[in-house]
Amino acid sequence: MRITVVQGDITEQDVDAIVNAANSTLLGGGGVDGAIHAAAGPKLLRECRELREAEYPDGLPTGQAAVTPAGKLPADHVIHTVGPNRHAGQTDPALLASCFRESLNRAVQVGDQTVAFPAVGAGAYGWDAEEVARVARSVLGEAHDGWSDLDEVRFVLHDAGTTEVFRNVFEYEG
Ligand code: ADP
Repeated sequence: MRITVVQGDITEQDVDAIVNAANSTLLGGGGVDGAIHAAAGPKLLRECRELREAEYPDGLPTGQAAVTPAGKLPADHVIHTVGPNRHAGQTDPALLASCFRESLNRAVQVGDQTVAFPAVGAGAYGWDAEEVARVARSVLGEAHDGWSDLDEVRFVLHDAGTTEVFRNVFEYEG
Protein backbone atom coordinates (compact mmCIF):
# COMPACT_ATOMS: atom_id res chain seq x y z
CA MET A 1 0.00 0.00 0.00
CA ARG A 2 1.39 3.36 -1.04
CA ILE A 3 0.78 6.29 1.29
CA THR A 4 0.83 9.70 -0.34
CA VAL A 5 0.29 13.24 0.94
CA VAL A 6 -0.87 15.99 -1.41
CA GLN A 7 -2.26 19.49 -1.10
CA GLY A 8 -5.54 19.91 -3.00
CA ASP A 9 -9.29 19.59 -3.16
CA ILE A 10 -10.51 16.12 -2.28
CA THR A 11 -13.54 16.48 -4.56
CA GLU A 12 -11.21 16.51 -7.59
CA GLN A 13 -9.31 13.34 -6.77
CA ASP A 14 -9.44 10.56 -9.31
CA VAL A 15 -9.54 7.69 -6.83
CA ASP A 16 -11.97 4.86 -6.18
CA ALA A 17 -13.26 6.37 -2.94
CA ILE A 18 -13.04 9.67 -1.13
CA VAL A 19 -13.70 9.87 2.57
CA ASN A 20 -16.09 12.53 3.84
CA ALA A 21 -15.68 14.04 7.31
CA ALA A 22 -19.44 13.94 7.75
CA ASN A 23 -21.64 14.54 10.75
CA SER A 24 -23.97 11.93 12.15
CA THR A 25 -27.03 13.27 10.32
CA LEU A 26 -25.43 12.32 6.97
CA LEU A 27 -27.40 15.22 5.51
CA GLY A 28 -24.51 17.51 4.71
CA GLY A 29 -22.76 20.27 6.61
CA GLY A 30 -19.89 22.71 6.32
CA GLY A 31 -16.20 22.20 5.62
CA VAL A 32 -15.21 19.27 3.44
CA ASP A 33 -18.72 17.80 3.79
CA GLY A 34 -20.23 20.89 2.17
CA ALA A 35 -17.60 20.88 -0.58
CA ILE A 36 -18.25 17.21 -1.36
CA HIS A 37 -22.03 17.68 -1.55
CA ALA A 38 -21.65 20.81 -3.68
CA ALA A 39 -19.39 19.02 -6.15
CA ALA A 40 -21.29 15.71 -6.18
CA GLY A 41 -24.71 17.26 -6.78
CA PRO A 42 -28.14 16.40 -5.36
CA LYS A 43 -27.84 12.69 -6.10
CA LEU A 44 -25.39 12.32 -3.22
CA LEU A 45 -27.83 13.90 -0.79
CA ARG A 46 -30.56 11.53 -1.99
CA GLU A 47 -28.24 8.57 -1.47
CA CYS A 48 -27.37 9.82 2.01
CA ARG A 49 -31.03 10.24 2.92
CA GLU A 50 -31.82 6.72 1.78
CA LEU A 51 -28.87 5.30 3.70
CA ARG A 52 -29.93 7.16 6.81
CA GLU A 53 -33.53 5.97 6.58
CA ALA A 54 -32.59 2.38 5.80
CA GLU A 55 -29.68 1.81 8.17
CA TYR A 56 -29.05 4.71 10.53
CA PRO A 57 -32.37 6.21 11.64
CA ASP A 58 -30.63 7.65 14.70
CA GLY A 59 -27.66 8.87 12.68
CA LEU A 60 -24.26 7.37 11.89
CA PRO A 61 -22.43 6.93 15.20
CA THR A 62 -19.09 8.64 15.84
CA GLY A 63 -16.19 6.49 14.67
CA GLN A 64 -18.22 4.49 12.15
CA ALA A 65 -18.22 4.69 8.35
CA ALA A 66 -20.78 4.06 5.60
CA VAL A 67 -20.57 4.06 1.79
CA THR A 68 -22.66 5.72 -0.93
CA PRO A 69 -22.14 6.23 -4.65
CA ALA A 70 -20.38 9.51 -5.44
CA GLY A 71 -22.81 11.36 -7.70
CA LYS A 72 -20.94 13.56 -10.19
CA LEU A 73 -17.53 13.16 -8.55
CA PRO A 74 -14.69 11.38 -10.35
CA ALA A 75 -14.56 8.85 -7.48
CA ASP A 76 -16.87 5.83 -7.45
CA HIS A 77 -17.80 6.03 -3.79
CA VAL A 78 -18.00 8.43 -0.90
CA ILE A 79 -17.20 6.87 2.46
CA HIS A 80 -18.85 8.95 5.15
CA THR A 81 -17.28 8.86 8.58
CA VAL A 82 -18.12 10.85 11.69
CA GLY A 83 -15.15 12.17 13.61
CA PRO A 84 -15.28 12.85 17.34
CA ASN A 85 -16.24 16.44 18.10
CA ARG A 86 -13.80 17.79 20.67
CA HIS A 87 -16.06 20.77 21.26
CA ALA A 88 -18.76 18.31 22.39
CA GLY A 89 -16.36 16.58 24.78
CA GLN A 90 -15.40 13.70 22.46
CA THR A 91 -11.67 13.78 23.12
CA ASP A 92 -10.79 10.07 22.87
CA PRO A 93 -8.33 9.55 19.99
CA ALA A 94 -9.55 5.93 19.73
CA LEU A 95 -12.73 7.32 18.15
CA LEU A 96 -10.65 9.16 15.56
CA ALA A 97 -8.59 6.02 14.90
CA SER A 98 -11.85 4.15 14.39
CA CYS A 99 -12.83 6.62 11.62
CA PHE A 100 -9.70 5.80 9.62
CA ARG A 101 -9.91 2.06 10.32
CA GLU A 102 -13.61 1.69 9.52
CA SER A 103 -13.30 3.82 6.38
CA LEU A 104 -10.58 1.50 5.07
CA ASN A 105 -12.63 -1.55 6.02
CA ARG A 106 -15.57 -0.14 4.04
CA ALA A 107 -13.34 0.58 1.05
CA VAL A 108 -12.12 -3.00 1.06
CA GLN A 109 -15.70 -4.30 1.40
CA VAL A 110 -16.78 -2.53 -1.81
CA GLY A 111 -13.59 -3.46 -3.69
CA ASP A 112 -11.99 -0.01 -3.78
CA GLN A 113 -8.21 0.09 -4.05
CA THR A 114 -7.42 3.80 -3.97
CA VAL A 115 -8.80 5.90 -1.12
CA ALA A 116 -8.40 9.62 -0.41
CA PHE A 117 -8.80 11.00 3.11
CA PRO A 118 -9.14 14.58 4.29
CA ALA A 119 -7.85 15.58 7.72
CA VAL A 120 -10.89 14.10 9.49
CA GLY A 121 -11.57 16.03 12.70
CA ALA A 122 -9.07 18.81 12.03
CA GLY A 123 -11.65 21.44 11.09
CA ALA A 124 -14.88 22.22 12.92
CA TYR A 125 -14.38 19.27 15.28
CA GLY A 126 -11.30 20.85 16.77
CA TRP A 127 -8.49 18.27 16.53
CA ASP A 128 -4.90 19.34 16.12
CA ALA A 129 -3.79 18.37 12.59
CA GLU A 130 -0.63 16.74 13.91
CA GLU A 131 -2.63 14.48 16.20
CA VAL A 132 -4.92 13.53 13.31
CA ALA A 133 -1.89 12.64 11.18
CA ARG A 134 -0.31 10.59 13.97
CA VAL A 135 -3.54 8.71 14.61
CA ALA A 136 -3.94 8.00 10.88
CA ARG A 137 -0.34 6.80 10.61
CA SER A 138 -0.80 4.48 13.54
CA VAL A 139 -3.95 2.94 12.03
CA LEU A 140 -2.20 2.42 8.69
CA GLY A 141 0.41 0.39 10.56
CA GLU A 142 -2.25 -2.10 11.65
CA ALA A 143 -2.96 -5.29 9.72
CA HIS A 144 -6.56 -6.11 8.83
CA ASP A 145 -8.26 -8.52 6.45
CA GLY A 146 -8.21 -7.19 2.91
CA TRP A 147 -6.00 -4.19 3.52
CA SER A 148 -3.26 -5.75 1.43
CA ASP A 149 -5.63 -5.27 -1.54
CA LEU A 150 -5.40 -1.50 -1.11
CA ASP A 151 -3.14 0.14 -3.66
CA GLU A 152 -2.97 3.74 -2.41
CA VAL A 153 -4.10 5.74 0.59
CA ARG A 154 -3.85 9.44 -0.26
CA PHE A 155 -4.16 12.24 2.26
CA VAL A 156 -5.52 15.34 0.58
CA LEU A 157 -5.06 18.48 2.61
CA HIS A 158 -6.67 21.74 1.73
CA ASP A 159 -4.08 24.19 3.00
CA ALA A 160 -0.30 24.38 2.97
CA GLY A 161 0.08 24.26 6.75
CA THR A 162 -1.88 21.03 7.19
CA THR A 163 -0.10 19.51 4.19
CA GLU A 164 3.26 20.28 5.81
CA VAL A 165 2.14 18.72 9.08
CA PHE A 166 1.05 15.50 7.31
CA ARG A 167 4.25 15.41 5.23
CA ASN A 168 6.32 15.67 8.37
CA VAL A 169 4.44 12.91 10.17
CA PHE A 170 4.33 10.51 7.21
CA GLU A 171 7.55 11.20 5.35
CA TYR A 172 10.07 12.40 7.88
CA GLU A 173 9.01 10.50 10.97
CA GLY A 174 7.19 7.59 9.31
P1 ADP B 1 -14.43 18.01 10.89
O1 ADP B 1 -15.82 18.49 11.26
O2 ADP B 1 -14.30 16.51 10.92
O3 ADP B 1 -13.37 18.70 11.67
P2 ADP B 1 -14.09 19.76 8.54
O4 ADP B 1 -14.73 19.57 7.22
O5 ADP B 1 -14.52 20.92 9.36
O6 ADP B 1 -14.30 18.36 9.33
O7 ADP B 1 -12.52 19.84 8.36
C1 ADP B 1 -11.70 18.73 8.08
C2 ADP B 1 -10.54 19.17 7.20
O8 ADP B 1 -10.98 19.24 5.84
C3 ADP B 1 -9.98 20.56 7.53
O9 ADP B 1 -8.56 20.45 7.60
C4 ADP B 1 -10.41 21.39 6.32
O10 ADP B 1 -9.47 22.42 6.02
C5 ADP B 1 -10.40 20.36 5.23
N1 ADP B 1 -11.13 20.67 3.98
C6 ADP B 1 -12.14 21.54 3.76
N2 ADP B 1 -12.52 21.51 2.47
C7 ADP B 1 -11.73 20.58 1.85
C8 ADP B 1 -11.61 20.09 0.51
N3 ADP B 1 -12.40 20.53 -0.49
N4 ADP B 1 -10.67 19.12 0.25
C9 ADP B 1 -9.87 18.65 1.23
N5 ADP B 1 -9.93 19.08 2.51
C10 ADP B 1 -10.84 20.03 2.82
